[in-house]
Amino acid sequence: MPADPGALAYIGVGSNLDGPEGQVRLAIAELGLLPASRLLAVSPLYLTSPLGPVDQPDFVNAVAVLATRLVPRALLAALQGIEQVHGRRPDGRRWGPRPLDLDILLLGEALIEEPGLKVPHPEMAYRAFVLVPLADIAPVELHIPGLGALADLLAACPRDGIRPLEAPPACEDPASLAESRLSRRQGRPQDRIPSAAIH
Ligand code: ADP
Ligand code: MG
Repeated sequence: MPADPGALAYIGVGSNLDGPEGQVRLAIAELGLLPASRLLAVSPLYLTSPLGPVDQPDFVNAVAVLATRLVPRALLAALQGIEQVHGRRPDGRRWGPRPLDLDILLLGEALIEEPGLKVPHPEMAYRAFVLVPLADIAPVELHIPGLGALADLLAACPRDGIRPLEAPPACEDPASLAESRLSRRQGRPQDRIPSAAIH
């Protein structure tokens, strides 16, 4: 009998310091190395305007989904370990710039309300930089415990301030379009991560 694959954990990934795109791509690769876990899919990367009062650079954001047998606290600790390797200080300012932010958005059907760990992530319902990439890799009918259907949250969430990191090249010629896609694909680690459909 196959081993229990565990719960689906959707992880929000964000960075706006020290080479944000590289930080996000490396963090995604590191998620793929977590124990008792398997990386199933990764969204495209988005550029997003920062929230809150702090004047700071734009973020690069994405969402990844893992199958994991880690218990919630072990998963949180593992994510915080990755954040720290990327130079995030545990006392960094809320809303402030950060080299890496990893959030547990969802963990199966879990509803967790504990000091230091709330799942689903309480602010995900209002954050386009979470909902848009989440919808890229989650089933359309995804239900978010305590918050409702992903499709409804997405419909209610303003999408200003979020755009794809890589706009399609402004190019009319299909041959050179295909060539530029091919050369980008060969050069990018993200494209080597298997991106399995999960629905
Ligand atoms: P945000 O990610 O909402 O911008 P921060 O990353 O600054 O906020 O908050 C970090 C704190 O959030 C950590 O101390 C962590 O314990 C807590 N936290 C609570 N719930 C979660 C969760 N679901 N995922 C990640 N961190 C969480
Ligand atoms: Mg966080």
